[in-house]
Amino acid sequence: MNDMYIKRAVAKRCGLCGCVGDLFELPGVPEKFCSECSADLAMVAQLSTEIGAATKAGRSTDALASELSQTSRRILERTQSAGLRDRD
Ligand SMILES: [Zn+2]
Repeated sequence: MNDMYIKRAVAKRCGLCGCVGDLFELPGVPEKFCSECSADLAMVAQLSTEIGAATKAGRSTDALASELSQTSRRILERTQSAGLRDRD
């Protein structure tokens, strides 16, 4: 019962940027994320899969890779700004 309570309290914050709001679950990930972060994480997972498939097929991954790095940077920036807020 205690465990349930803790999980519920923690689940109110995004596991990535720490914002409070509507949160979404991703398959295979214990944390929950806000709509922005879950969309970006889903994008990263999808791009990684596509890059893997393109590599196997011998196709160019340049466009996919640049999209992946843009998405990763966006996630990183959001995480860092959340971290800066916490330190203040
Ligand atoms: Zn978030």
